[in-house]
Formats: sequence, structure tokens, C-alpha cells
Amino acid sequence: MHLVLFVFLTILTQVGGIIYLIALFATLKAKKLRIFKRAVIFILLYCICCLFLIPRIALYFGREKIETTDHLQAYSIFYILANRDYVKPELKLALQEIGLGLSKNYPDLTVVYLDANFPFFDGFPLLPHLSHNDGKKIDLAFIYADENGKVSNEKPSRSGYGIYETPADGERDQTKICKEQGYWQYDFTKYVSFGKRNSQLTLSDEATRKLISLILNQKQTSKLFLEPHLVDRMNLSHPKIRFHGCRAVRHDDHIHFQVR
Ligand SMILES: [Zn+2]
Repeated sequence: MHLVLFVFLTILTQVGGIIYLIALFATLKAKKLRIFKRAVIFILLYCICCLFLIPRIALYFGREKIETTDHLQAYSIFYILANRDYVKPELKLALQEIGLGLSKNYPDLTVVYLDANFPFFDGFPLLPHLSHNDGKKIDLAFIYADENGKVSNEKPSRSGYGIYETPADGERDQTKICKEQGYWQYDFTKYVSFGKRNSQLTLSDEATRKLISLILNQKQTSKLFLEPHLVDRMNLSHPKIRFHGCRAVRHDDHIHFQVR
């Protein structure tokens, strides 16, 4: 069970497995300590490390924790607590500028990020995103509007992934194409949405398009991934917009971008 927890916590948070082992060895002699108390000790140790220690050590690895501002926030506290919000300084700067740019057009809107990178080691992937392993990649949420067309920071997925803007009739169905070629994993994020909320929301093409143009205008931005039918629907054309390939997962539930 210890091994399973170690692997699970490492995949989820990178450092959780190590902190679990430290908490385990620290309480080894206190055999009478109940599981509940051991869990409390682990959680306390984990929170202290993640809040005070890891952001400082990450600087030596060239990565910084994203700071929440009026214009930039995580999709949920999970991304912050699980250390999935570390980026290179140039990406952090780009995010701040994108947030500021969006607020000039939409004062009530905030740029909402999903998975970024872990704090340590180039090459250590942030699963399930194999490429989020160098501090240069991040996923952003789309912007949605309610039934009256008013844009807001509300989102339809509980996790941030897996609620798709599916192709309409006549639009390119890339998921079908990839799955027919045997890439079964292309839409596996449907299993990690943890349910739909705010079912009245629809994608705001206009506000999401503005967000995308702000990303593309950053000189540090090297690539942006978006599902082909949304690229066509939003009438987007830019050399930095690429198709991510069938080996990745579908990108009609979020925007992925990366810096040089
Ligand atoms: Zn991504």
C-alpha cells in the first residue's frame, strides 16, 4: 500500500511521494499512532513544504510558481496544491501580460490556467501531459458565455478538462479521424471531467479568440494547440497555431501554448 501511495502521490504532485516517505519514517517508532494521525502529520508536512519550501527550491531549477492576480488564476485550488503551477520566468511574464491584455477588453474576465509544469527536473512529465516537462508549457481554459451571451469566468467542467466543444455538422471531426487510425487515447480526457456543471454555458468564440490572439502576440510564444474545427470556426490563421497530432489528446476543451 505504501508503494501504491508513493507512486500515486508522485504522479499527482511530483514531491508528494517523497514527503509521504519522510512522514512515514518520522513516525515509524510511534507504532501506536493511528492512521488518522499519520495522515494529519503527512498533510501538515506536505502543506508546509508546498507553501514555503518548494517555491524557493524551484528557483534553482529555473521555475517559479504562478502568482494569482486580479487577471490570472488557477482553475481550482487543486492545481496550486498539487504543484502543477510552475513555469519558467518567461512564461510567467507572458501569462501576466496576457491577463492584463484580456482585462483591457474584458474587465471582468480572468485568464484561467489548468496544468502547467511541476517545480523540478526537465524531462519529468506532468501526467497525463507528456510534453509538460520543461516549465515552458501551460493549458488555459476557454471563455464561456451564459444564455444571454454574457461572458463570465464560469466554466462547464469540474476538473477543467473533458467537456468538449464538439464539431458541428460539416466541421472537421479530428477525433473521429484519430480514433479511426487507432489512437484510442485521443479523447480519454472525457474520463477526467468529473462531471459537467453550468450546463447553460456555451463557448464564447469572440472572447476566446481574443485570448488566443493575446497569446499569439507574445513574442515568447512558440506554439499554440487548438482542435482544427475550432481553428476554422474562429477563423484563425497564424504560423504559431499547430496541430498537436493524434498521439496527443483532443484540444477542444482547452488551449495549450508554449514558449521558446
Ligand atoms: Zn498542454
